[in-house]
Amino acid sequence: MKMAAAGEPHSSLYDTIVVGAGIQGSFTAYHLAKRGRETLLLEQFPLPHSRGSSHGQSRIIRRAYPQEHYAQMMAESYRLWEQLGAEAGAPLYRQTGLLVLGADTNPEFQRCCQTLVQHRVPGELFTAESLPGRFPGIRPHDGEAAVSDRTAGVLYADRALRTVQDEFRRCGGALHDGQKVTDIKPGVVVTVTTTAGVYRAKSLVITAGPWANKLLAPLRLQLPLQTLRINVCYWKEKVPGAYGVSAHFPCFMAICAPHHIYGLPSNEYPGLMKICYHSGSPADPEERDRPPEASALPDIERLRDFVSKYLPGVVPEPAVVEHCMYTNTPDEDFVLDRHPEFSNIIIGAGFSGHGFKLAPVVGKLLSQLSMGEEPSYALEPFRIRRFPAPPPAAP
Ligand SMILES: Cc1cc2nc3c(=O)[nH]c(=O)nc-3n(C[C@H](O)[C@H](O)[C@H](O)COP(=O)(O)OP(=O)(O)OC[C@H]3O[C@@H](n4cnc5c(N)ncnc54)[C@H](O)[C@@H]3O)c2cc1C
Repeated sequence: MKMAAAGEPHSSLYDTIVVGAGIQGSFTAYHLAKRGRETLLLEQFPLPHSRGSSHGQSRIIRRAYPQEHYAQMMAESYRLWEQLGAEAGAPLYRQTGLLVLGADTNPEFQRCCQTLVQHRVPGELFTAESLPGRFPGIRPHDGEAAVSDRTAGVLYADRALRTVQDEFRRCGGALHDGQKVTDIKPGVVVTVTTTAGVYRAKSLVITAGPWANKLLAPLRLQLPLQTLRINVCYWKEKVPGAYGVSAHFPCFMAICAPHHIYGLPSNEYPGLMKICYHSGSPADPEERDRPPEASALPDIERLRDFVSKYLPGVVPEPAVVEHCMYTNTPDEDFVLDRHPEFSNIIIGAGFSGHGFKLAPVVGKLLSQLSMGEEPSYALEPFRIRRFPAPPPAAP
């Protein structure tokens, strides 16, 4: 497709422009192109890149959710992941199972057990005494229990992102990377200016990850989003492979206060398990890779403590630390909604560190909103109006 010179509008009028080619924007664009909509996906960095939230080789996929609305969406999400893998001829996830570990009286643990039963997800309940018999690598403590979700596993994240972008292009979509969106003019036709051109569309979807509020500020909207720098830690197994996918070690999610700890069996780095804290330190996405103060690493201290207490076959010192961003809402539910003033501008944001597995459904919902269709799920938990109105700006 011919590109317009900077400052000169592109001659095409797109049905939809999607800003941000992370997993959410890429799935939104894919659904739109599959439905025959003329779609342009814009990305600020040359692809692939590791500056946002969707890079890296692995993400957990699970049906064990304490909230019913996500448990419901996950049934369809699994089908859509399966379908995308079949279209591309490459599997996008590996089933490993997942253990939710927590105090047996913990309400979140109990809600996970309930959703698994309610949705007839195959799994098993373990006590602190019975768990080591099945998974000798984990040492639970008195009063703790575990429930397994056998359908869970590891999504091959980089491969999944590349695949959905390839399928989007195969369906006729245009993906322009290395073009930062610098201006958005709302209207019946939205005009989007990038560092390389000017484009017009009947609707716009903003899926800009940790940059969402930067794009929304000129549109007179600020969401209560907190951007967090996450330390992605890999830990050495004392016996290589003991906690690996080949040894059938599962993913796990330990319900801890104030934030969970989760782990994935060793796979992407042989002999290293991925074990992370489900929170981080506030950071602007542009400054993610600035070395943190030593005092800003309480997450790694908590992880060391967890590994020593629960995973006797893992060295309690991270061998590799990488970085990624979370964009959290106060309730950790997503934002999937229209802009309150400009109804043809749709926002997908605040995926709060658990949005990858749900991206096929998120993309479908955002595409439905942009096409003016009734969304397939109730969007109440995701509406912008659930947040208290911000105080009026100082005069
Ligand atoms: C360490 C870590 C572990 C995680 N583990 C899991 C897990 O196990 N399971 C799970 O389900 N989820 C997990 N998540 C969460 C999941 O990865 C995110 O929810 C998801 O990737 C968010 O995708 P996104 O598309 O919203 O954001 P991003 O991937 O950040 O994409 C936004 C894109 O917008 C682009 N952009 C921004 N501004 C502009 C602009 N002005 N012009 C053009 N482009 C722009 C950015 O460059 C970026 O590519 C994890 C996240 C992290 C960080």
